[in-house]
Amino acid sequence: MALPAPRADLGLREGYHSSQVDVEVRLNTNESPYPPPAAWLAEYTEVLGRLDWHRYPDRSATALREAIGALHGVPADRVFVANGSNEVLQSVCLAYGGPGRTVATFEPTYALHAHIAHLTGTAVREAPRRDDYSLDLSVVADVLAGESPAITFVCSPNNPTGTAEDPSAVRAVVDTAPGLVVVDEAYGQFADWSAVDLVADDVPLVVTRTFSKTWSLAGLRLGYAIAPAPVVAMLERVALPYHVDAAKQLAGRLAVKYTDEMTQRVAALVRDRQRLAAALAGLPVTTWPSQANFLLFRPHHHSGGEVWKGLLERSVLVRDTSSWPGLEGCLRVTVGTPEENDRFVAALTEVLA
Ligand code: PMP
Repeated sequence: MALPAPRADLGLREGYHSSQVDVEVRLNTNESPYPPPAAWLAEYTEVLGRLDWHRYPDRSATALREAIGALHGVPADRVFVANGSNEVLQSVCLAYGGPGRTVATFEPTYALHAHIAHLTGTAVREAPRRDDYSLDLSVVADVLAGESPAITFVCSPNNPTGTAEDPSAVRAVVDTAPGLVVVDEAYGQFADWSAVDLVADDVPLVVTRTFSKTWSLAGLRLGYAIAPAPVVAMLERVALPYHVDAAKQLAGRLAVKYTDEMTQRVAALVRDRQRLAAALAGLPVTTWPSQANFLLFRPHHHSGGEVWKGLLERSVLVRDTSSWPGLEGCLRVTVGTPEENDRFVAALTEVLA
């Protein structure tokens, strides 16, 4: 029997995938190179045994939202939690996008912004960034005026370029956008400033964060938004009941007790990023200033694909972005442990020789 055709508007759109191959040095998905604190794991596994497994979890995840709110000095009703910040972005598109509405993205940027918009039936207006990958505010103004997007995505620090926007640029977008502005701060803790402080109940701004990077918990799938309370209420309406399970609520609640450890790791990774950038500066590649836990680089005399393959042959995996529009010839490397960074630099030096 023939299987039914899926939604026609999904077309041939592919998902977003990063290679999951077995290598010694994995620097392709911007995870933390360090496992979470041992004390967190011990406490988590101990308390896990006492959960009411036969009961549904707290549907509003109040304790977790209070704990995250306390991190940012905001009440729980300005915190929305979900299964990774991707699910937060999906919830925003479900609630504020949809058929007949448009989202604006400034490319190259995180591919999931456009991808999730498409999946939710939202039109996408992709506009370019400047050559240095910062936002061009005159282009932004034209798009906001011309398209009246329901959602404007700003990724800062931007994946995959590492570029962070100035506070004045983000304020300008928030002041002029006709709809909601989403500042994706998946890498926010690595940067000099955060848009979280701009969030208020009468400001159409949503800031998204994740436990996947700085909190060393990519395996957990926990992300959140800091947003006006009425927006959080709408996001909760489109989320499935009990979407954040009890084990995850517990894990997140306990994780924020280890904020000091997280902050120390972030500081160490920022130092290692600077060392890595200095090493790349001595090689025939162009790099861009990064405020995240990764660096974008473009080899001068080799194609991106060649370099990616050469690194893989040396058991070093990076992200090949060389075929993405606006990133011709570029690769992205995550900051790993000092040993992993050394392995990467040694391998890259050989490949470029
Ligand atoms: N936003 C950006 C900019 C990202 O790079 C990522 C992870 N690749 C995410 C959101 C999603 O993170 P998660 O779903 O793991 O929270």
